[in-house]
Amino acid sequence: MNTVSQSWTPIIGMEIHVELKTASKMFCACANDPFHAEKPNTYTCPVCLGLPGALPVANKKAIEYTIKLGLALGCRINQFSKFDRKHYFYPDLPKGYQISQYDIPFCVNGVVHTSEGDVRIRRVHLEEDTGKLMHQTVHGDEITLIDFNRSGVPLVEIVTEPDIHSATQAKEYCKKLRQIVRYLGISECDMEQGGMRLEANISVKKAAHAKRLTQSADDELPNYKVELKNINSFRFLERGIVYDIKRQIAILEQGETPVQETRGYSAQNDATFTQRVKETAEDYRYFPDPDIPPIAIDDAWLAAIAQDIPELPDAVFARWRDAYGVKPDYSELLCETPEHAAWFEELFAELAQRALPADACMSALANKRIAVRVFEDSYEAICDALGRMLHAEEIPEEELSRVLRAVLAEQPKAVAEYRSGKEQALQFLVGQVLKKLGKKINVADLASRIKQELKETS
Ligand SMILES: [Zn+2]
Repeated sequence: MNTVSQSWTPIIGMEIHVELKTASKMFCACANDPFHAEKPNTYTCPVCLGLPGALPVANKKAIEYTIKLGLALGCRINQFSKFDRKHYFYPDLPKGYQISQYDIPFCVNGVVHTSEGDVRIRRVHLEEDTGKLMHQTVHGDEITLIDFNRSGVPLVEIVTEPDIHSATQAKEYCKKLRQIVRYLGISECDMEQGGMRLEANISVKKAAHAKRLTQSADDELPNYKVELKNINSFRFLERGIVYDIKRQIAILEQGETPVQETRGYSAQNDATFTQRVKETAEDYRYFPDPDIPPIAIDDAWLAAIAQDIPELPDAVFARWRDAYGVKPDYSELLCETPEHAAWFEELFAELAQRALPADACMSALANKRIAVRVFEDSYEAICDALGRMLHAEEIPEEELSRVLRAVLAEQPKAVAEYRSGKEQALQFLVGQVLKKLGKKINVADLASRIKQELKETS
């Protein structure tokens, strides 16, 4: 928020697409493996190529994954749902329509908690991904190739209410959503490959109106919005939003209204740019897909799906805070996946047994103040190193730092020798520091500390 002028409030809603990790595609038996296929168009059949007469059959697992996500986000589940056809023309969509969900999505009305406030989830629906266009130059001609390996891959879309009010909150929301999706084991969320795609709807409103906006009608929203599309990293999302908010404020302060359009983000220029100006509202002519029967989700099925949801990051963290006093600052590091969380769970137990404070240890690990490999080294080795470090810290940082600098200043010859590659010189310097300190301190830690100091001053 600090980058934004105080009198304006950004109004942001997110739309996120995530490819689900099912064995087969959404409406056919083709393998769902678009990123590892040896060749383009390996996994195709009449259904996902959109050939006339081919009949789609909905993937039960994909529906379960979508509902699982909805439940994890606290959504209400529509136990009667259906698929609809969304019509538009584009070469990556051979049928001329995409099978999606229109008025009865599987999940509605959820919430994701962020440190800057709750973000309400409007809907979570299931659809099919499109083919992938590849623009290439062949024999000097610029051509477009189509790969249908991705066509028909189950794709879930998560849409929020416009409850987000800063670029940092948008980023936090997206990261948290990815964390939940990974916890559920329903997608890898590979952003580079396009397995998770981010879209932000951004507008800006005079701050005085902003408070009422969050709980009132849509007609109080700004009368325009800018869609920031095709973003494949959290950092670019944050930077793109920061840039566009400034751009919109500059336009509004001149008494004009920003153009309703779709914009992309260029990392090279650290700026957003016009992709497509929308002149009219799009008409997708939605109607229920007559080839796919409506989906009824009975209570037993719903209960079985709910039972398959693991303890989620928010709950894991609340438990750790109470049991071990760990602060939420490290939640990203600790709870990236259930495997990570399980690993830290054991580490905390080990630390507790040795009466080592978990929070100080997490701070040391997060800030890489000790040379251990998380997830690789044994718990014993890590706890030993943490124990030594916490012990060594009994020497006030100021004192250690002062002695260290003094020794380096007094020993220019040893410093020069070390810099020219003589490892023994480092041992000499360690000895000199120990002598001057007159206290016991872990030698390995001290050596890496000196190395660090030399790196910073070189
Ligand atoms: Zn197929």
